Amino acid sequence: MGSNQVTAKSHNIRSILKTLLHQRQISRVELAGITGLTTATITNLVNELLRQGVVREEGIELSDSPRVGRPRMVLELIPKARYAIGVHIGIGEFRVIITDLIAKPIAESTIQYEVCQDAAVVIDAIIRQIKHLVQQNGIPNETIIGIGVGASGLVNVETGVNINAPNLCWQDIPLRDMISHGTGFPVIVDNNVRLMSLAEAMFGDGKSVNAMAFVYARIGVGAGLVVNGSLYRGMAAGAGEIGHSVVIPDGGEICRCGNHGCLETLVSEPAIIRLAQQLAEANPDGIMARELQNGNGSLIDHVFAAAQAGDIAVLEMLKDRARYFGIALANLVNILNPEMIVLGGLLVQGEAYMLPVIQNTVRKCAFSHMGDQVEIRTTRFGHQTGVIGAAAFALNTFFYDSIEFSEQEKTI
Ligand SMILES: [Zn+2]
Repeated sequence: MGSNQVTAKSHNIRSILKTLLHQRQISRVELAGITGLTTATITNLVNELLRQGVVREEGIELSDSPRVGRPRMVLELIPKARYAIGVHIGIGEFRVIITDLIAKPIAESTIQYEVCQDAAVVIDAIIRQIKHLVQQNGIPNETIIGIGVGASGLVNVETGVNINAPNLCWQDIPLRDMISHGTGFPVIVDNNVRLMSLAEAMFGDGKSVNAMAFVYARIGVGAGLVVNGSLYRGMAAGAGEIGHSVVIPDGGEICRCGNHGCLETLVSEPAIIRLAQQLAEANPDGIMARELQNGNGSLIDHVFAAAQAGDIAVLEMLKDRARYFGIALANLVNILNPEMIVLGGLLVQGEAYMLPVIQNTVRKCAFSHMGDQVEIRTTRFGHQTGVIGAAAFALNTFFYDSIEFSEQEKTI
């Protein structure tokens, strides 16, 4: 078989698998209609997928039509025919997940680690955790399609090297090769926030959306962009650095990037905590000051607890931060014209106090009607967005967008 035929065949398989992912139950005739493939090609490729055990064909009764002759036959993916592994490397903690073919979690764990220690130690712990989860859940190795890794900072997707993760003090870490060597599975690596946008685009509310952004704020602020259904990385994988949009060029605080007044210096966990501490010092008997004396939980939890308890100064401060955030998003809207912006991280925690102000600011500041048309909301995946995005990346790379299915055929 010539290589052109192999390419065309794998392209056709991909389009069938992606249609099955989005339609869930579909007849062969409908499948031909959507993919534009001939009946003969559909028969040939569907038979191969049935042989591989990743799809099944069943008769279903139609409730709205009289029972005449045979039931309608539909094809559907068998979600548990294969599994994907996702790894999300956050700052001070990593998450590992095993999902089925439709990104439904099967098992998950979260492990804390000390930041700025040797990367090899953390990667070793990741590998051990992957093996542990696979074994504990009795997942056969041959059903695992591969591992997607969402890394902090700049990543070279081609080489799987984590070029620079300033918050972890890591440089030039060959994540892909180390994790692949340690587990025996194929591995693909990208930036962790970019993969959150993939979770939304493949399995969240962004499924039917053409252009969308996922914006995450925690220690830093970053965005993942999806354009025409695919991740947009830019020239050197730097697309989405919205945290370094300059909002206050003169007199703004210095950012870790060296500029002044970047969004990250105004709206991030450290920035909000610092402002809350100043408010507590200015009003030692206030709600914020009392919250901070209460030792349990993280500092940012105390800030939102004070807002919840009605601390006026804290509420004003959060609204003020939300306005800056909205200005940066309005600029993003003017460039990308997205249908949807999904927010994650502390914006989920602070949704009640910040989201309405963010939405209003975008409506007011974005050009023409673009601000009214964009839907801005928080992620529905909660803390799992990053790790589900990593598994989605593995699914996309090694299953829905893979050419593995044609490998067998090549040797015949
Ligand atoms: Zn900056």
